[in-house]
Amino acid sequence: MFGFPHKTPATDRNSLLTLIHAGETIVVTLRRAPTARRFTLRVRFAARDAVLTMPARASIQEARAFAERNAAWIAVRLNRLPEIIPFAHGSILPLRGVDHLLQHHPEKRGVVWTEPLNEAQNDSLQPRMALCVSGRAEHVSRRIHDHLKREARRDLEAAVARHTLTLDLAPRSVGLRDPISRWGSCSAAGSLNFSWRLIFAPPFVLDYLAAHEVAHLVHLDHSPKFWKLAHRLSPAVDRAEAWLAAHGAHLHKYGASP
Ligand SMILES: [Zn+2]
Repeated sequence: MFGFPHKTPATDRNSLLTLIHAGETIVVTLRRAPTARRFTLRVRFAARDAVLTMPARASIQEARAFAERNAAWIAVRLNRLPEIIPFAHGSILPLRGVDHLLQHHPEKRGVVWTEPLNEAQNDSLQPRMALCVSGRAEHVSRRIHDHLKREARRDLEAAVARHTLTLDLAPRSVGLRDPISRWGSCSAAGSLNFSWRLIFAPPFVLDYLAAHEVAHLVHLDHSPKFWKLAHRLSPAVDRAEAWLAAHGAHLHKYGASP
């Protein structure tokens, strides 16, 4: 698999530590790295946990002692993570990069639809569009989730079809996943997978990710030839990379539960 923008770290040798700090439970994922010379800690946005990288020979007891000494540091950083935005009435979701106010209309027909918001509020900071969902309250989150995944699939299939056509390649189906550390992947067998969360990004970002993975159907690496092809398919390579570096992590705060 060729991950983008970062390879997923190996998780098979991971284990978990649980710390209690100021009455809060903190989960620390342990990762042994053969090349690590010392303990290093970082906080992961999407997973909302801390990762402690440890030298291969260090003991679990040493790891726990290190984590406990740094529990306050971890707690501060976890508490600073942006809040989770649930799929619930009143939440604002950036559908294709445009803010939509989620509105629950229990009485209406239809399932999920978008419509312009009434002009009741002229505040320019308020969303101009609503993402509406009907039915019972307990189904709102799942219906919105299903709808966003369908929309993501539609956009990604269209983008992949466009780029494969440009390269005169056979059409490809699109798989959707929810990975933490990559937006798309292309297997050696040529199957393309993407994060459904790209539906929250502006269209030029989704289109670039589709171009990136389609370019991997030709070059299974990140060689100069690969980048040349990616630029040919997408005029927004640099802009989209910059957007993802600045905002990508925020796409994980929608709909998930802590
Ligand atoms: Zn890649």
